[in-house]
Amino acid sequence: MILVSACLLGLNTKYNGESNAHSLLQKYCLWGRFIPVCPEQLGGLPTPREPVEIIQGTGQEVLRGRSLIKGEQGEAVTGYFIRGAQETLKLVKMFKVSAAILKERSPSCGVNHIYDGSFSHSRIPGQGVTAALLKEHNIPIYSEEDLNEERLKELLCQDQGYDKS
Ligand code: SF4
Repeated sequence: MILVSACLLGLNTKYNGESNAHSLLQKYCLWGRFIPVCPEQLGGLPTPREPVEIIQGTGQEVLRGRSLIKGEQGEAVTGYFIRGAQETLKLVKMFKVSAAILKERSPSCGVNHIYDGSFSHSRIPGQGVTAALLKEHNIPIYSEEDLNEERLKELLCQDQGYDKS
């Protein structure tokens, strides 16, 4: 099975109550191999919710207690993000997940980049909290921005244990 950020599949889990619907992922959802997950909802946050960023750090640093996640007004929500990552890891173990496709730049799901905590749309290299935890447990993580149809089919075929040809 492949874990996918729920918002990419069209579920309205995003902080503003909308989705990040991704037509290619929605198309291949019909193969029945995707598990939609929103770590922020699993961690106990409501939808809609305030947009937040990791402050001066990455998901790895949040997991080690070296960085916080806050909204623009300074309210800290770090614990919800850590809980959401831990709950997501439970799903990974429950369903023998082979890979995860996650929404780029999210403080939970970002794979290659996240925002820098200045709320100015500035990016830094690094992962969100859930992406970092999955990586630490050797789950291959992919950004939706890195996938084309060919690569996605390869992942799906690997997940099912056969050659796509
Ligand atoms: Fe999407 Fe991940 Fe944000 Fe949930 S936490 S809305 S799945 S990017």
